[in-house]
Formats: sequence, structure tokens, C-alpha cells
Amino acid sequence: MAEGRTVLVGGRASDTTADTPGAVAEIAIADGLIAQVGSAAGQVERRGGDTVIDVDGDIITAGLVNTHHHLYQWMTRGRATGCNLFDWLVTLYPVWAQLDVEDVLAAARVGLAELALSGCTTAADHHYLVPRGDDSVFDAIATAAAEVGIRLHLARGSMDLGESDGGLPPDHVVEDTESILVSTERVIDRWHDGEMVVVTVAPCSPFSVSETLMRESAALARRHGLKLHTHLAETREEEADCLARFGQRPLAVLEEWDWVASDVWYAHGVHFDDAEIARLAQAGAGVAHCPSSNARLAAGFCRTRDLRAAGVPVGLGVDGVASNEQGTLMTEMRQALWSARQGTQDPAALAAADALDMATVGGANCLGRPDVGRLVPGARADLVVWPGEDLADIPDPVEALVFGPDRRARLVFVGGQPVVQDGMLRGLDLAAARRDLAQRARRLWP
Ligand code: ZN
Repeated sequence: MAEGRTVLVGGRASDTTADTPGAVAEIAIADGLIAQVGSAAGQVERRGGDTVIDVDGDIITAGLVNTHHHLYQWMTRGRATGCNLFDWLVTLYPVWAQLDVEDVLAAARVGLAELALSGCTTAADHHYLVPRGDDSVFDAIATAAAEVGIRLHLARGSMDLGESDGGLPPDHVVEDTESILVSTERVIDRWHDGEMVVVTVAPCSPFSVSETLMRESAALARRHGLKLHTHLAETREEEADCLARFGQRPLAVLEEWDWVASDVWYAHGVHFDDAEIARLAQAGAGVAHCPSSNARLAAGFCRTRDLRAAGVPVGLGVDGVASNEQGTLMTEMRQALWSARQGTQDPAALAAADALDMATVGGANCLGRPDVGRLVPGARADLVVWPGEDLADIPDPVEALVFGPDRRARLVFVGGQPVVQDGMLRGLDLAAARRDLAQRARRLWP
């Protein structure tokens, strides 16, 4: 069809090859998909009826993919700032227990808006707090995603192992195993469309779930052909807990529970040894790397260089802002770069293009989305135009973007539809959403 195409021209192309995602000079969008891509001026043919947008030296990349988040944590920023993971969780569980569905909606609105404004077009939210068993909390998150206009991987999280059963969370924040499974089926029925909302089955972490929940969740997800997600190998404390309770390291425990496979991606994956990395690669299981959260909670550094070299799909996740404070993938790209180099003392451990690769293709691979995270013909037209006027002196636009100062997207398309224009969200009044959130968050701290 000649009519209805949108053609972006005038971008700064990077030196990366066609196989690695980079910045492109020109791109044509039609029917929600990428129609044509050009790495030099004039490569995309102009047709009558095209809407041509000159991006004037800005940087065009694929939309970013966030593989791990807890949107509700926008309610509890800036708290428990001197804690490791377990102390931080024990401090915040009782506060999170006060949240209601409206609070989660308010947090999801702001969290997803911040993601969209910083170039994210697909976001996974791992939500495992279901106050009083009210699973309309998942409707709230999906509603917020529809308002903002980005793709949501709605991870129906869960916890069924309270303190009295040897778990970390207090009993009053966990759910009954059977109720979780029934609710998960309901959430799939209500929301899963495979495109804008993809439901994932996501028990929380080894120290908050039962073996029954893990096994039944895996079976449920596989009946529906859905992905599985959980926290794994985040801290040494978690490792010690698994050794004490099961006599095995975290990955071996999950192996027994049938949770090491290509339909699984784990959040964090900090403390994998060489044999475990080889096993992940063999299984095709992915890792959501959350470098800011790992740094703030002193969890350790994820072996991204080794994971990627072994062929493990590695994406980026912002994790909740209660352990991150910013909630944008732009900062995670840079932190991933810093953490890999600092942890290995190898300046070649990760390059800017690798960080962008993790934030796009790597994340899409974790989520099982071959249709996003790529600027190739036929992929969904999810893309970002980044302001580049202050970076024009830097030779490689991807290096400029990743090494450079934080920035907001100028223009974001999801499925060819503009979600952010001139740096402003189209679907949501962000100032009002921020005020609502701040008012609600203050209530939690009398
Ligand atoms: Zn997390």
C-alpha cells in the first residue's frame, strides 16, 4: 500500500552491522510494522502519500524492552536505603501489605509513563502482592499500560510460603496456593492477547514460594504456551537459604522443579558459576539483568560478559524503583556497561552496542518476542527517536547515547502509533498522575 506510510528520515546511523541493533538513518512504517530500513540517507524510497518526518540528526533506535520491574514499588521510593535484599524486603513487606488496587494503578501509571518517556515500548511487570486476594490488581496494571500505550508482559506473581512455613515474607502477605493458580487462569482469560498484553506465570522467589506452587505454575504456563519468570541467584543470602533448606544451589533447586528451560527467564542471575552458565545456555533460559538494583542492594555483579559469550539470552530490567529510584532503561544501559567493566576489570567486557543489544533484542529474546526489539522489515514498528543535538560531535551515535547524559525520548512509536510526541505522553496526564501517587505514598508513612 502506498498510502499511510510514515517515513522517518535524517537520523544518525551507527557503524553497527545489520545483525546488531543500532541507530538507523531512515525507516518506513506501514500497518503497524517496519516496512523498510535505511542506514544511509536516501535508502528508503519515497512514495506519494508518505508522511515524512525529518528527525534532524536525532538518533533512531528500536524501542527498549524492560524484562523485570515491580511497578507498585513507585509507592515506596527512597526507603530502606542501607539494606541488603533480605533486610530491605523484611522492612518493606509490611508497608506493601497496606497497598490497595487504586495504589497499584497510580504506581503503574507513573511507572509505565516514565518507561515510555525514556524509550521503553515493552515492559514486563512482576507483580506478586495481591492484597486480600483481590486479583483486580492485575486489571489495574493492564489498564495503566493501555492508557500509556506500551506493550505489557503482565507477570502474575505470587507468594505462598509465609514466615510460619519457613519463608521470608510475613504470613499476611502470602496467598493460598490453589487460589493463586485459579487466579492465574482468570488473569490469562481476561488479559492475554499475545500482542499488547502477554501474561506470564511468575512465582516470586525461592524464599517465598512452595515447591507445589512452582511445579503447578510451570505446568499451568506450559498448558497455555506462556512464559515463566521468577527471581533467581540474586544474593549470597538466597544461595545460603537454598543450601540450608534443600542442600542445593538455587539453579539446582529450580532444575528439580522443571524450571530450567527455554520458556523461563530469571530476574538478576548474579551468582551463577561456570557450570550453571553452561547449563543456562544449553537450556536457552534467559536472564533479566538489573544492574542498578544489584548495586544499590549490594547483591553483587551479574556476569553479563560470560552469560552473553555462552549464548544465554540477557535482557535488561529496571527492577522496582524501591531499589532503583529512577525506573528507566536509559540508566540501566549505562549501569550495565559500568558494572560489567568494573566487575571484570576488562574494558572490552561490554560495549555501548552490547548494552543497547541487551536493552532491545536481548530483552525481546527473554520475553519470547521475535516481533519486537529489532529494526528489521516485518517487525512491529516499536521505535524511539532520541534527541541528539548535544551529541552531534561524538562519532558513534550509539556510544553517544549510552555513554552520554540521561535523556528522554523525543518520539516513541508502538505498533506504528505515536505514544510520545515532542517528549510528551499522549495518553496520560503525567503531572496529575505524579500528584496522585505522591499523595497516596505519603499515607503509608504515618
Ligand atoms: Zn525484582
